[in-house]
Amino acid sequence: MPSTAVDLLVIGAGPAGAAAATQAARGGANVVVFDKAPYGRDKVCGDGLTPRAVGALNELGIPLDDAHHIDGLRMIANSTVRELPWPDGGRFPNHGAVWPRRRLDAALIDAATEAGADVRWETEALPILEGDTVIGVEANGERYTAPMTVVATGAPGAVAKMLGTERVEDEPFGLAIRAYAESPRHADAHLEACLTLKDEHGTPVPGYGWMFPAGDGTVNIGAGALSTMKGFKKLNLNTLLDDYRDMVQETWGLGPYLERPRAWRLPMSAQRRHGKGWVAIGDAAGLINPMNGEGIDYGLESGMLASDLFLADAATAPERYDIEVGERFDGFLSTGRRFSFLIGHPWILKNGLRLAVGTEAIANITLQVMGNLVDSSTPGAAGRIFSLTDKALATADPLLRRTRAAA
Ligand SMILES: Cc1cc2nc3c(=O)[nH]c(=O)nc-3n(C[C@H](O)[C@H](O)[C@H](O)COP(=O)(O)OP(=O)(O)OC[C@H]3O[C@@H](n4cnc5c(N)ncnc54)[C@H](O)[C@@H]3O)c2cc1C
Repeated sequence: MPSTAVDLLVIGAGPAGAAAATQAARGGANVVVFDKAPYGRDKVCGDGLTPRAVGALNELGIPLDDAHHIDGLRMIANSTVRELPWPDGGRFPNHGAVWPRRRLDAALIDAATEAGADVRWETEALPILEGDTVIGVEANGERYTAPMTVVATGAPGAVAKMLGTERVEDEPFGLAIRAYAESPRHADAHLEACLTLKDEHGTPVPGYGWMFPAGDGTVNIGAGALSTMKGFKKLNLNTLLDDYRDMVQETWGLGPYLERPRAWRLPMSAQRRHGKGWVAIGDAAGLINPMNGEGIDYGLESGMLASDLFLADAATAPERYDIEVGERFDGFLSTGRRFSFLIGHPWILKNGLRLAVGTEAIANITLQVMGNLVDSSTPGAAGRIFSLTDKALATADPLLRRTRAAA
């Protein structure tokens, strides 16, 4: 079998893989990226970018001219409507965006190609293992070897099975569905999230319905739910979306779906995210925020981090990556997972929501906490509340798991 040696191999050309490839190629590495899909592939997504994600795109030097600018979030809980601006003056930009994935992902992978990465489309790649070490990949009957392989394959599939990166059985995950429709309000400057969805049996759903205006004549309409709810296995996502569409149809002047609604998984944990010769990034590493389902930012950040560490020292990169990505995200993500057990209980969800959107000030804090726009070092009320919630949820963790609502 023909064999080619390069510096870095990347499996998957979504946001995570593209960010890793761009960063490494700009740093002078010889990078080959494989994606089994054709160029211009779509990804089932809400297309929403928080200020944190805009910050990551800025760091990667991706211009946002093609994206629709978003000033804040309209939070809806029953009859309460709060229009909240993104926080100003923190370490992230004060605006978000909506950027349909077909175009966002093309812009990202074009940047990788421009930086010198060699992108092979319609090419499935699988890791080659020698003992417990990944020495490269096999693709199209050819071998490619490299000191490090980056696994950016999205929600777990064949590669996750081979490397043991599947989600942790006991931890929550999400499912979400989305479609596009025309709307006269396509250029609205706010993301809209309805936090009080119910399933067809009237059970409150931990999750939300969204209207994300794309600024191109269309809106991305979708709904997502966490696996911690009772009856999750029987939840009909198409019905959930149709019911939500009926709620918003009039206020948004919504046209029919432009394509069949499509659903996909949101992995929120991984059994491992590194090993000898490889790292997993983005969804492949379970890096999705359980509080809002956001994963693009985590893909970009983990991709850039993996490549920075690779450029610094290929031999230590996998271990360093696991430590540093953990320091950056594990605390927040485990708080988010605990929170998702909590809101799996209908009573807590109902009353918690009442509190979370009860006043403008508290709703603003909810927005910052859910968007991972604060951490325990953030000054002010949001930082203090996050820190307190974090401690309380950690203490309650065993109880939350024992009393989980899911069935
Ligand atoms: C309905 C829905 C709505 C969402 N809304 C949002 C949102 O509004 N904002 C947000 O930030 N996040 C959202 N997310 C999450 C977001 O879509 C993901 O977190 C994000 O796409 C992760 O990027 P990634 O690069 O890790 O993986 P992906 O974008 O899934 O890319 C993985 C790539 O790997 C390729 N691949 C897989 N296996 C192989 C192989 N063996 N060989 C070659 N190629 C392979 C695939 O073809 C694919 O192109 C949503 C998710 C869902 C399901």
